[in-house]
Amino acid sequence: MNKNILNKTNFMKKIILIGALAILICQKGYAQQKANPKDTEVWTPVPKQINFNPVPDDAIILFNGNNLDQWKSVKDGSEAKWTVKGDIFTVKKGTGNIETKKKFTNYQLHIEWQIPANISGSGQARGNSGIFLGSTEGGGDAGYELQLLDSYKNSTYSNGQAGSLYKQAIPLVNASKKPGEWQYYDVVWTAPVFNDNGNINSPARVTVFHNGVLIQNNLELKGETLYIGAPFYRKHGALSIKLQDHGDPSEPISFRNIWIREL
Ligand code: MG
Repeated sequence: MNKNILNKTNFMKKIILIGALAILICQKGYAQQKANPKDTEVWTPVPKQINFNPVPDDAIILFNGNNLDQWKSVKDGSEAKWTVKGDIFTVKKGTGNIETKKKFTNYQLHIEWQIPANISGSGQARGNSGIFLGSTEGGGDAGYELQLLDSYKNSTYSNGQAGSLYKQAIPLVNASKKPGEWQYYDVVWTAPVFNDNGNINSPARVTVFHNGVLIQNNLELKGETLYIGAPFYRKHGALSIKLQDHGDPSEPISFRNIWIREL
């Protein structure tokens, strides 16, 4: 075969291939045009209408300014002894941690807190408290701690500053406000799931907004918070939410407007 005939044959092959492709693309487009948009509409279930008055009306109020009836002392189960004044309550140093009477699994939590304007101390001894997203067996500080601390111009280890999952995860940014200003966390907590033999099936996950800023993004926890050593899981069911009376000598911090939505 001479060179000219060979070139012509290759050219024809290319034309046929392009033609075949064009036909395929046209057919696909036509098939899409024929499909009904209603085929991909889903009408049930219908999401429940939620109103704000002033919190979502499907939320459980954990503190609304009147009393600590939703809380108890971790130490002995007696009534929570922290100080309620106006629409806020304040850690009463030395009385120990308090926790919710009700237990939760997966939830959305809103909690507002204030480091006092006259806060003293430094590092971990400056407005230290904590929100245990699940309070596990062993009392005290057992559980999964979202750290609460004055981290406005207060240096400490990064995985122990405000917004850290204590000694497990550094916050993405530091969204702390000045002492004296009210701050808040919005938390989405997915509880860990355990196998019958106690082994972890799916770890806990948490997303946290600090003053509206994303600081923990669907973080997978390695286990319960530990002060010393590597975290690990222990099997549990639904858990209380616990607030920490840390015991550092700085001025006590306050809370207000706490609500939770079970998911
Ligand atoms: Mg703490």
